[in-house]
Amino acid sequence: MRILLVEDEDRIASFILKGLTAEGHLLERAASGSEALESALSGRNDLILLDLKLPDGDGREIVRRLRASRVQTPILVLSALNEINDKVALLDLGANDYLTKPFSFRELAARVRALTRTDLAHPELLEAAGLTLDSRARVVSRGTRRYRLSAREFTLLEYLMRHAGESIGRAEILEAVWGTSSYTESNVVDVYIRYLRRKLDTPDAPSVIETVRGVGYRVPA
Ligand code: CA
Repeated sequence: MRILLVEDEDRIASFILKGLTAEGHLLERAASGSEALESALSGRNDLILLDLKLPDGDGREIVRRLRASRVQTPILVLSALNEINDKVALLDLGANDYLTKPFSFRELAARVRALTRTDLAHPELLEAAGLTLDSRARVVSRGTRRYRLSAREFTLLEYLMRHAGESIGRAEILEAVWGTSSYTESNVVDVYIRYLRRKLDTPDAPSVIETVRGVGYRVPA
């Protein structure tokens, strides 16, 4: 899961970053509301962990702006009890849940699982470029034809299909699929795109993965 952590206190942020990264999540941290907003509005996160008392304002404003922009990313508010004085108002505003500080990591991890569970509970079918990808059964097909992909190829294709229609840079792909942002390894992305094209492309149609010059790759929506 891709999680945006909006927290200005370094000590708390590093505690959460360490714990959730170890659980396999991909964390991005923002230390202020303005820093958080761009990533939050992009809709690319699976979950937002949000502190309310930020150096440049109130986290509630972020909740309000996201919901007003129809961004439905689940939001878990993490704040001191005296900052969450009106819990009902907070939920009405569009937050999904809250945890009061201090909290144990176990409790946070449980809430994170609960808020991101829908992906696991329901088979999720992604459709793009004539392909159907079942993220739970881990099957890729076109009509009645099924494709055999390696685990890494599957994860790469799933990421591109989840963002179908968007041009995605190699650095973002590296980070999302390989968990690294090391620039020296960036040609591994090109290599795996070639593997996928070899398996999925048909001679009479354009490639299922477009090259976006100067940017990266895109699966057409
Ligand atoms: Ca704070």
